[in-house]
Amino acid sequence: MKIDLHSHTHYSDGHLSPKELVDRAHNMQVDVLAITDHDTIDGIQTAIDYQSQQKRAMQILSGVEISTSWHNFDIHILGLNVDHTNAQFLARLEQQSQERDRRAQQMSDKLAKVGIANVFEDAKELAGVGQITRAHFARVLVQRQVVRDFDSVFKKYLGKGKKAHVKPKWISIEQAITWIHDAGGKAVLAHPGHYDMTTKWLKRLVAEFADSGGDGMEVIHSHLTPVRKKLLADIAAEHDLQASSGSDFHYPNRWTELGKNLTLPEQLVPIWQDWNLVSQ
Ligand code: AMP
Ligand code: MN
Ligand code: MN
Ligand code: MN
Repeated sequence: MKIDLHSHTHYSDGHLSPKELVDRAHNMQVDVLAITDHDTIDGIQTAIDYQSQQKRAMQILSGVEISTSWHNFDIHILGLNVDHTNAQFLARLEQQSQERDRRAQQMSDKLAKVGIANVFEDAKELAGVGQITRAHFARVLVQRQVVRDFDSVFKKYLGKGKKAHVKPKWISIEQAITWIHDAGGKAVLAHPGHYDMTTKWLKRLVAEFADSGGDGMEVIHSHLTPVRKKLLADIAAEHDLQASSGSDFHYPNRWTELGKNLTLPEQLVPIWQDWNLVSQ
């Protein structure tokens, strides 16, 4: 079974529409796909409706990737199997969306001060129906040839402590877990191996996440060495967290693919163990 519980559409910083993403997942022989856009569930219904017309065996799960602030770090919490029609949840996510716009405007003001004008307008246009993210800013700056590649934008302008960085006011980890639980979903700590922190801080993060009622942790995600994988599996086991895995697919490229290399370590309990997955 290929289960991929982390992916993006153009409702946030993914490049594909929900339909294109679903088609690609099907082509990659994915059995279960969770769509987890940044702070929005707007793409879910289209994906579910589209997939239900296709008469093919692949299950779409509703999900979201909520941005939180924790000790000056941006920590991402996945909400899996949430009720994407829950009005309270939608209203809550709208607060995050407004914070995205506020931060984007301020980043644009900072860029204007160093001679790079009107980035907000271009980034907003690029984002279209979706949430505006730093990834859109990065694409605009690469297109304008201000920097040579995507990562350099973060290193020079948008990363923590850089020229156009704006400290975001995301909700707390606890709040995100509450929102997800209130919407009937499971809360999963996203890509713990990606945060730029020491192992000591990582352990503290996972301990606090678990104490706050978090359900699971992504123990398999991109760019993990075998040593790091083992570390994540051990930390998850220590805190009785269930295990999740996802590609964090944003667009077709050399490094990430839907449903690829996502097998969980055997000793861990999968996050989907009590879900009625159709193909199980
Ligand atoms: P935001 O949620 O608006 O802060 O945007 C962050 C998004 O930018 C992440 O979800 C990534 O998809 C993307 N991103 C790509 N490269 C980087 C990087 N070097 N640092 C931070 N974010 C990155
Ligand atoms: Mn992203
Ligand atoms: Mn993330
Ligand atoms: Mn993601």
